[in-house]
Amino acid sequence: MKISEIYKEDKPTLSLEVFPPKTSEVFDKVSSAVNEVADLKPDFMSVTYGAAGSTRKYTTAIASDIEKKGETALAHLTCVNASEEKIKDQLDSLKAAGVENILALRGDLPEGVESTDEWIYKHASELIPVIKKYGDFCIGCACYPEKHPESADMRADIEGIKMKVDAGCEFLTTQMFFDNDLFYNYMYKLRESGVSTPVTAGIMPVTRANQMARIIKLSQAFVPRRYVAILDRYGDKPEALKQAAIAYATDQIIDLLANGIEHIHIYTMNKADVAEKIMANLSDIIPSCADKGR
Ligand code: FAD
Repeated sequence: MKISEIYKEDKPTLSLEVFPPKTSEVFDKVSSAVNEVADLKPDFMSVTYGAAGSTRKYTTAIASDIEKKGETALAHLTCVNASEEKIKDQLDSLKAAGVENILALRGDLPEGVESTDEWIYKHASELIPVIKKYGDFCIGCACYPEKHPESADMRADIEGIKMKVDAGCEFLTTQMFFDNDLFYNYMYKLRESGVSTPVTAGIMPVTRANQMARIIKLSQAFVPRRYVAILDRYGDKPEALKQAAIAYATDQIIDLLANGIEHIHIYTMNKADVAEKIMANLSDIIPSCADKGR
């Protein structure tokens, strides 16, 4: 099913992100973790695409398994260092697997690479027409409530978002954020700029202390004092940190829904138990979370 159709229904939704294996040796292990996430029956599941296409065949295999289970898959696709032929091949294999939704991304610049000048496709907005050329996909893109680290300022960042929407992006999924006020402020600016595309709020339950350092490096997300205190106190107590992360994510999601945000996306890191507990906390709030973990 296309995500644009899911979003037309007038109800809050919850989607879950999983990642594919990097090598064939761990395929079965990762596939079984993804299967557990799919058993939670979210509104849809997104499958990431390894840096510069390093997991392309596994992204397709995992998305295909999700579709075979009768769930809706959203396959990520990046254009970093890609050719039209490579993109077409990936789209053909996703189409054959029954995948109807693509998250069109540029991808991160590989270590040591400063600019996209050498590449055919320099931005996600340039990938969108290629996807449209090779299939009838519903296309989503990424957006950044705290701006993309490469954007000079928020105005320039939103100009980039508008290019993606003009090219055919039908929904936006945010980078993870830990402070809802930053997200509300962003939504105001986005809507004021005329972007009316549905926005899915990306929430990350950080269940390991060392994860946070990596997240901050990659996304430059602001971590509120309340989360810093949790990490300080429970960073070396994995089960306590997991419980606190689930509570923090639940609190963030309830606040978002209470303030009229309809679409929530959880970065699960393939942890079905974490997603299940958050969904159980939302069982009377989001229809697809009903009866989870009871
Ligand atoms: P773009 O939209 O191209 O934006 C990148 C920068 O260029 C921004 O600063 C933007 O303002 C600017 N820009 C955009 N268009 C133009 C233009 N025409 N001219 C000048 N400047 C412009 N990475 C992966 O490798 N695999 C994944 O599966 C993956 N999944 C992700 C999912 C989500 C929800 C998010 C938020 C990110 C994900 N990423 C993934 C990371 C993403 O690839 C990086 O954040 C990357 O640096 C930017 O990708 P983008 O699609 O937002 O790029």
